Amino acid sequence: RFAYVNGTYRPLRDAVVHVEDRGFQFADGVYEVWSVFDGRLADFEGHLTRLWRSLDELRIDRPMSPEALARVLKETVRRNRVREGLVYIQITRGTARRDHPFPAEGTPPSVVVTARTLPLAKGNAAAVKGVAVITQPDIRWGRCDIKTVGLLPNVLAKQAAKERGAAEAWMVDEMGLVTEGSSTNAWIVDEHGKLRTRDTQSNILRGITRAAVLEMAAKEGIELEERAFSVDEARRAREAFYTSASGFVMPAVSIDGVKIGDGKPGPVATRLRTLYLERARREAI
Ligand code: PMP
Repeated sequence: RFAYVNGTYRPLRDAVVHVEDRGFQFADGVYEVWSVFDGRLADFEGHLTRLWRSLDELRIDRPMSPEALARVLKETVRRNRVREGLVYIQITRGTARRDHPFPAEGTPPSVVVTARTLPLAKGNAAAVKGVAVITQPDIRWGRCDIKTVGLLPNVLAKQAAKERGAAEAWMVDEMGLVTEGSSTNAWIVDEHGKLRTRDTQSNILRGITRAAVLEMAAKEGIELEERAFSVDEARRAREAFYTSASGFVMPAVSIDGVKIGDGKPGPVATRLRTLYLERARREAI
């Protein structure tokens, strides 16, 4: 495997960043991920726009033009012979002697791009059965709209899920409302049949898959509302699922061990997964 690191492609074992990189020292950086279909990138513009926004919000310089970035992402995919999988980019505020304030102006950001094969079939098998989710308190900061590499609360939540045999942890605010998954956006079809997901004005990541699914659900004529739901409402829901660029639409069939609906993936989640995969394939560049 090969990685792009600050201008060159290197075998993964030789791909390194400096010990005083601010990503390593302070988690002072952002990242983005695209899924790959047939060697092409899904939702390219959506993820690119969010990446620029994450950088702008943290006042990290954009390391290259959109065209150059597209070239690097595609070249990394090509060199790793990825047909189906994921391509990640991490951009940090660069390397400088450890000191909290921003380094001198002109310090170049560090850029790392990696790509790996992840067969779609694997996720499809999980989606047919449905997966378990657990809940965890949301202990994150106030800027979860920025896609930073500071993911420790997410890591702890996902590990808790894994240790309890679940695939995802849904994080819950002080009001008992679900914010989002540790690496996904959370959805239910509530007991009245309405599709619900939390609004993005409320300290969650503005999922690119979430936006695509909202658009498709509206086109399908599904009644929907961008409004937070409680853990209790999730337990009583007809269906639950979560969305992300890497998992697409994943049906959840239990929450903290309580069966949701009839304990099988529901028709809305199943339909939206099919539609999303069709769309992502069709529009990949
Ligand atoms: N929320 C969090 C916390 C995430 O890390 C992710 C995945 N990047 C998502 C939601 C889903 O976002 P997207 O659909 O853009 O992958």
